[in-house]
Amino acid sequence: MNRWTGPIISCHEISKFYPVGEGLFALRDVEMEVPEGSFVVIMGPSGSGKTTLLNILGGIDRPSHGEVILKGRKFSRLSEDDLAMLRRTEIGMVFQFFNLLPELTAVENIGLPMRLAGYKDDAIARRTTELLEAVGLLDRMKHYPSELSGGEQQRVAICRALATRPAVVLADEPTGNLDSARSREIMDLFAKFNAEEKQTFIIATHDESFIEYADIVVKIVDGEIVERSDRHGTLI
Ligand code: ADP
Ligand code: MG
Repeated sequence: MNRWTGPIISCHEISKFYPVGEGLFALRDVEMEVPEGSFVVIMGPSGSGKTTLLNILGGIDRPSHGEVILKGRKFSRLSEDDLAMLRRTEIGMVFQFFNLLPELTAVENIGLPMRLAGYKDDAIARRTTELLEAVGLLDRMKHYPSELSGGEQQRVAICRALATRPAVVLADEPTGNLDSARSREIMDLFAKFNAEEKQTFIIATHDESFIEYADIVVKIVDGEIVERSDRHGTLI
């Protein structure tokens, strides 16, 4: 499975300390190298640091110590503006509660990151149509989030995350709010986009069904990576 060349995103000695009460390390010395095009599943119980890690990888949150490098660019060296631009163009995020803007339609939600990144209207129209078609929601494009089911909202949110063809898509418990049939649809969509568009996916979950899709399974407990394996459990 050596179809990649080097890490598209990596983090080194990442720690995150919260000075609450006696203080708490949400992450401790996390090392991770993610090969381009891979499908990474981060497994861990609630409170193990999954969200903290994804937010740091996505540049939403800064680590207390350590470095994130995306396509050779160190986050710590970037200004807030440059980091915001990198986030907009190279990182897509999918959340447990979908986080669509309620006052925008499905197609407008999907097109928003492209609009913010300065794409022209015709490029936005082409890409949003292509994505809606891929997730089977062309007939829902003018619907508002409140007019869509949870599974449909999450499919729209995935389209939004993919709109600018970011290098890396980060998903935090993307099926945590869906029943098992809808969860399966979402997993299949990630797998389809991973295969067809070659995006790198990093998915945090405690749903073990994701493992069968993974190139790399990272287990995290109490803020530390305790195991890295392939989908069959072989350590890598
Ligand atoms: P997970 O996503 O795996 O459930 P989190 O990354 O949300 O875990 O949280 C990891 C740990 O950090 C937990 O103990 C949580 O209580 C703590 N934590 C998360 N965010 C904050 C914060 N803003 N302030 C203080 N502690 C936090
Ligand atoms: Mg979480």
